[in-house]
Amino acid sequence: MSKTDFLNLCRQVTGADHVVTDADSLQAYESEWRQRIKGKALAAVRPGSTEEVAQIVRLCQQFRVPLVPQGGNTGLVYGSIPDHQGNAVVLSLKRMQTIRELDIDNETITAEAGCLLAQVQQAAADAGKLYPLSLASEGSCTIGGNLSTNAGGTAVLRYGNARELCLGLEVVTANGDIWHGLKGLRKDNTGYDLKNLYIGAEGTLGVITAATLKLFPAPRASCTALAAVATPDAALRLLNAAKNHLGPTLTGFELISDFCLQLVLRHFPELRHPFQQTSPYYVLLEIASHESQEHAAGLLLDLLEKESAQNQLQDAVIAESSRQAQTLWSLRENISMAQAAEGKNIKHDIAVPASSIPAFIAETDALLHRHFPGCRIVCFGHMGDGNLHYNISAPKHTGDIFLKQQEPINRIVHDQVQRFNGSISAEHGLGTLKKEEIRRYKSTIELNLMQTIKTALDPHNLMNPGKVL
Ligand SMILES: Cc1cc2nc3c(=O)[nH]c(=O)nc-3n(C[C@H](O)[C@H](O)[C@H](O)COP(=O)(O)OP(=O)(O)OC[C@H]3O[C@@H](n4cnc5c(N)ncnc54)[C@H](O)[C@@H]3O)c2cc1C
Repeated sequence: MSKTDFLNLCRQVTGADHVVTDADSLQAYESEWRQRIKGKALAAVRPGSTEEVAQIVRLCQQFRVPLVPQGGNTGLVYGSIPDHQGNAVVLSLKRMQTIRELDIDNETITAEAGCLLAQVQQAAADAGKLYPLSLASEGSCTIGGNLSTNAGGTAVLRYGNARELCLGLEVVTANGDIWHGLKGLRKDNTGYDLKNLYIGAEGTLGVITAATLKLFPAPRASCTALAAVATPDAALRLLNAAKNHLGPTLTGFELISDFCLQLVLRHFPELRHPFQQTSPYYVLLEIASHESQEHAAGLLLDLLEKESAQNQLQDAVIAESSRQAQTLWSLRENISMAQAAEGKNIKHDIAVPASSIPAFIAETDALLHRHFPGCRIVCFGHMGDGNLHYNISAPKHTGDIFLKQQEPINRIVHDQVQRFNGSISAEHGLGTLKKEEIRRYKSTIELNLMQTIKTALDPHNLMNPGKVL
């Protein structure tokens, strides 16, 4: 039987409208978010139910057609697009957008994989609850994609990443069986934790079709502050003081270097510098209160006054309205776009223990400046989680030719990450972008165990082949 037979059988499963084969319509499924690379698909198939996903996976097995699960296609490591061979099917989950259950008393929501993150956040909010996963891509990324990449974002410090927010999964396995694992249990010690195999697997082991997620009481108020600090070491001291003083009310702790802030002010002229004087680093803090706005603001003020009295801060500002809070957040959220507007750069999404961040930055900055004089380091990120976006822009007026230095620059940065017992991918995953790089940094035992799991669950290597491993 031929590819045409395969596609006709897919059409019988989903209806002809949901098997996309014309070149123009396929482009959106073949290109990644930043439009840096493009693959080639045999077709994009858009099933509308778990049963349809299972039937398509079984057809892929029967015809030995590789399959690339795709959600919002906002992933940053090229995991959601096919390779160039043109023989893979993109399996889009975007039609599966039903919220199946909201169990207020159990504080859980069960959502299909194609639900947008923002949709789930809104459904929780409408019920007076909070689903705390929060990413800048939340209007486009999906629950299936969030779980498959174990997404992080800005509230990990308080609530954990996507893995920690998931209680149960429904999965179509690589051979087309449906695993009904949608339990809303906070305790279940009954053998191997299968759900945690599929979470973070980037679609290489099976297709997530639905998930039961944890909800939390919605805080009554939140408060945001920006503090200016002289060094990453001062930022670390502030982090520890904030944890001790604020306890679980502390929800965000973001580090911003002055170079990042200057980039944002240059490319977003409507934004103002929040302080009279510049400082080498800034920290954006957010807290949530279950009491009141006054309570939230009082807690933050108390912390910042104490730290100021001990000369730990250069300056600080507390947002007095949600609009001001948004303005402070936009200084953080616009860094990536400002950096892109400045020119191409070499990106790293790294994690080290939070306690090692000052030493990591000091040593790595020095190494890079020694080997690549004039390079500009764009250092910012979720310091509370030990996660930095540590990107390198070209020296002024050298342009894209600097990108040729990617390999030696990666070596310096990732060797440093290794030295501090860190991770070369904190929240974006491996995809194809980091799959070779990870072979340098994971032990043979880890790689062999991962390969053993892959071969056991997907013996014909049809689930998102070429990604992760
Ligand atoms: C502006 C912007 C900001 C971002 N900020 C953050 C951030 O703060 N933190 C962070 O962690 N990430 C961030 N990301 C990256 C990205 O948004 C996340 O990785 C997100 O979780 C991907 O979801 P998606 O639905 O777009 O998945 P996709 O990009 O479609 O897929 C990602 C991977 O998951 C697999 N996959 C998708 N759906 C399924 C499924 N149902 N079953 C099995 N496998 C599946 C794909 O094959 C692919 O390997 C950001 C991206 C952008 C563009």
